[in-house]
Amino acid sequence: MIPIAKPQIGDEEKKAVMEVLNSGIIASGPKVKEFEKTFAQFVGTKHAIATSNGTTALHAALFCAGIEPGDEVITTPFTFIATANAILFCGAKPVFADIDLKTFNIDPASVRRKITKKTKAILPVHLYGQSAAIEEIMAIAKEHDLKVIEDCAQSHGAMFGGKKVGSFGDAGCFSFYPTKNMTTSEGGMITTNDDALAEKIRIFINQGMKERYVHIMIGHNFRMTDIGAAIGIEQFKKLEGFTAKRQANAKKLNEMLAGSGVVTPYVAPGCNHVYHQYTIQTENREALMNFLHDKGIGYGIYYPKALHQYEHLAKYGNKRLKNAEKAALVSLSLPVHPALSDADVVAVATAIKEFMAKK
Ligand SMILES: *Cc1c(COP(=O)(O)O)cnc(C)c1O
Repeated sequence: MIPIAKPQIGDEEKKAVMEVLNSGIIASGPKVKEFEKTFAQFVGTKHAIATSNGTTALHAALFCAGIEPGDEVITTPFTFIATANAILFCGAKPVFADIDLKTFNIDPASVRRKITKKTKAILPVHLYGQSAAIEEIMAIAKEHDLKVIEDCAQSHGAMFGGKKVGSFGDAGCFSFYPTKNMTTSEGGMITTNDDALAEKIRIFINQGMKERYVHIMIGHNFRMTDIGAAIGIEQFKKLEGFTAKRQANAKKLNEMLAGSGVVTPYVAPGCNHVYHQYTIQTENREALMNFLHDKGIGYGIYYPKALHQYEHLAKYGNKRLKNAEKAALVSLSLPVHPALSDADVVAVATAIKEFMAKK
């Protein structure tokens, strides 16, 4: 069986975790500080604040950016549910713009059409490892005085015009869930260049506490542990290699699938894709899934529904987000992760070609 995802945990991570356990400082401590510093440098922002996961990173960033009940936040309906739930937890209304079917990312033209007097922020997602049209989104935000919170949960190291995602908006939010491009087990990170926002986020994720028992605002416990950070520090050292392997696997898949009839991932100008997912489009998905299943090849449907098609979000959605709805029907993600052997990659591509030729 070739799995769709496989976290790469080596002796380095195990040793680092044992050191933390032996140190006695197992909650947030020096490892979190070190990991934050490394990550801020990597993304190219002044600050990075570690959190308990990617969802809490989004929640903290939106809340501290001032998103309140009555506000509208424009986002994509073709993403993981966490993106919209973070908006709901601030009491705000998620407003869905449609996507570009080539990139699966939010369509700036559709964003423009969704702006109202209540719009307070745009929350683009850099889906599957590719930057959204972030320069255009930043221009729209500037024009309308809107905040931009980037969801970078799937795009560690992705760039637009040579600049890393997570460094464009008011804040960038990353996830280190085991299936992402790098992991801390559960974990997240917020990147920002805004000193005041960074300070507010640090206070918010630590019970609204400025100093010990000086609680100056509502707060939460969204902290990362040193155990997670120790894993993250080791994973970060391997990230460049992981990304290179993902890109090499994607290149091989592209080459082998050329002319097969399936629509392979599109890389937009100015982007370097870091292939969190390698997602093809096929009108014959059901049959292809059965075929792959029988061959022992893993796959994923990210995502089987557009968010406005879920009951608790339906009331916020536009009925006609036709690209997002189409993407939910035709997209299929194939294994591209760094644990694949060359033979695995060939097996994946060969199976797809065989299926397409039969059809
Ligand atoms: C994984 C993911 C999240 C949430 O991150 P968690 O660490 O699982 O909470 C948010 N947005 C997107 C696009 C994701 O893929």
